[in-house]
Amino acid sequence: MDVQRKLEILADAAKYDASCASSGTEKRDSSDGKGLGSTAPGMGICHSYAPDGRCISLLKVLLTNACNYDCLYCVNRTSSNVPRARFTVDEVVKLTLDFYRRNYIEGLFLSSGIIRSADYTMEQVVSVARKLREEHHFRGYIHLKTIPEADDALIAEAGKYADRLSINIEMPLENSLAKFAPEKDVRAIRRTMGRLRLKLDEAKENARTATKTKPPRFAPAGQSTQMIIGADAADDKTILDTSANLYGSYRLKRVYYSAFSPIPDASRALPLVSPPLIREHRLYQADWLMRFYGFDAGEIVDEAAGMLPLDIDPKLAWALRHRDRFPLDIATASRQELLRVPGFGTKAVDRIIATRRLTSIRVADLARLHIPQKALPFIVLSDHRPPPHLLDGAGLAERFKPKATQLGFGF
Ligand code: SF4
Repeated sequence: MDVQRKLEILADAAKYDASCASSGTEKRDSSDGKGLGSTAPGMGICHSYAPDGRCISLLKVLLTNACNYDCLYCVNRTSSNVPRARFTVDEVVKLTLDFYRRNYIEGLFLSSGIIRSADYTMEQVVSVARKLREEHHFRGYIHLKTIPEADDALIAEAGKYADRLSINIEMPLENSLAKFAPEKDVRAIRRTMGRLRLKLDEAKENARTATKTKPPRFAPAGQSTQMIIGADAADDKTILDTSANLYGSYRLKRVYYSAFSPIPDASRALPLVSPPLIREHRLYQADWLMRFYGFDAGEIVDEAAGMLPLDIDPKLAWALRHRDRFPLDIATASRQELLRVPGFGTKAVDRIIATRRLTSIRVADLARLHIPQKALPFIVLSDHRPPPHLLDGAGLAERFKPKATQLGFGF
């Protein structure tokens, strides 16, 4: 089989993995004439993200789509009737370098089905990164998928070469993983995440205390994971609780949410249709609220509903359930309170805080502060106080919904 055909199969097989954003690593470049590649923006590398947040500028492939495991939700499972292929280590190295030189990619995202054993597969994955870094002095981004059962020494080596390591938790509920992926062991997954966290903490501490010599690196962009949404019955509240637990326990950089896509020859235990993609989007927004807006997982989703509304964003939904906390006086509200106003982003809040130290904020200032007019029912300004009926009105959510547009007729 030629490399072109292998690439078709192994890039297609990797498309179900969403956990490949390339943010947050250390800065490296090759402007000194040594090495190849860069992780810095503006160096001829195009950081390109799909609207749902997926990074699309990495060469994203599997080393092989053959697998000993039979995870029901996975197109590469052992019982799946798909064409199989396997790259050699040198083929992935060459492809990465060729694509990089043509400026198609900014780095590599490498995962693999499990063949022979966890250690054998992990060793192959690590070999690609080792060759790229040590033989070709590649300085672009590398994200390696980690096999939880692999030996600790291999994981340590992976962290030496990779920017980011990830282990997929796969399912929001432990019993769903047992049902859909009986060969996977949630305890091994969590144990390895814990080991990674210890290594990451150690590397950070070494970097902080280092004086002369550069301390050994370990995955400077941290670890991430992915959860499949909509394959089991877990509601959004359960999903966000699991994410909060993962962020808290293993200090993950990101939890990625991947809407389940029906696969060929799927098991009857799986749903026939995918969940709406907007659900995945709402979960990303809710995740953002936990990480940057000071929300707890437990307060984002309406307890009784268990699900995020699909028609409005989670922050607006929270505000509509807590109308008694508004309107908020911009002149005196704390940063945490301001972050809860629908339409206020973190930068807008910083601008408000900087501006109100100097002057009182008026309606005419909103555009300059990048605050949308639709936030007016939730705030008090020096020349504005919303009438109570506006905040209590049933049509408040409508102000935030995008205007309906006429569909094209094709003529
Ligand atoms: S171990 Fe990974 S590649 Fe293999 S079947 Fe399970 S999810 Fe798919």
